[in-house]
Amino acid sequence: MFVEIKNLKKYYGEKENKISVLKGIDMTIDEGSIVVVLGPSGSGKSTILNIIGGLETPDEGSVVVDGKKISGKSSAEISRYRREMIGFVFQSYNLIPNLTVKENIEICQKLGDHVIDINELMKLLGLSEHKNKFPRHLSGGQQQRTAIARAIVKNPKLLLCDEPTGALDYETSKDTLRLLETIRKKYGTTILMVTHNEAIGKMADKIFRISGGEIAKEIRVENPQSVD
Ligand code: ADP
Ligand code: ADP
Repeated sequence: MFVEIKNLKKYYGEKENKISVLKGIDMTIDEGSIVVVLGPSGSGKSTILNIIGGLETPDEGSVVVDGKKISGKSSAEISRYRREMIGFVFQSYNLIPNLTVKENIEICQKLGDHVIDINELMKLLGLSEHKNKFPRHLSGGQQQRTAIARAIVKNPKLLLCDEPTGALDYETSKDTLRLLETIRKKYGTTILMVTHNEAIGKMADKIFRISGGEIAKEIRVENPQSVD
């Protein structure tokens, strides 16, 4: 099992103000699969993603990724884990405004050892002709594709996407999801997406429905559909 999460709990606040955001989450993710966590705003999706990505620490439970337990690691070990294993894609593209598309990707490439060739990746993502543009001169879809290139260029084993199409229109969202499928196929990347968008669930191998910090339902999809 590539990712194994057991009884994951997270609280915010102290004493009488303490709220329980994750109430004992169990999840498994196969290597090379696409898994979608679906749920309404505030249900705890980003918190799960951030814990798996080492951006937040759990209060209880265990998270094992690629055979390594990440809960309980030191912050130096977590930084290394994040650098070597994880790529992040957010709804807000988080590009560096004063760097071109190519430069934005290059600085991320420097973080990894087993990197993907930048020209190959820009071609795959339809960015070659935009490589010398600054983010402000790109459409939303192009900005998100640049963000995906930045996340993928160090060839992470696990790509974590938080509402990756949240700021995009319907057609551009479909293009973006198609590219994520292509990346999974070409590089074997395991992809975990969290979203409130039901339509994204269709492309998953497995869907976890979350509600109020609990898994309400786990659905293994027999015939995942490609994005049409
Ligand atoms: P989702 O991604 O499903 O919208 P989140 O994981 O962002 O949900 O948040 C789940 C709950 O945790 C929400 O009620 C949110 O207000 C709360 N929460 C998230 N981060 C913090 C924080 N740093 N401090 C306090 N509460 C938080
Ligand atoms: P895509 O479908 O790849 O997102 P669009 O069809 O939206 O691309 O954009 C077509 C062209 O218009 C692009 O080459 C892009 O450079 C330009 N463009 C789109 N939106 C903007 C914008 N907000 N600011 C500047 N240029 C833009």
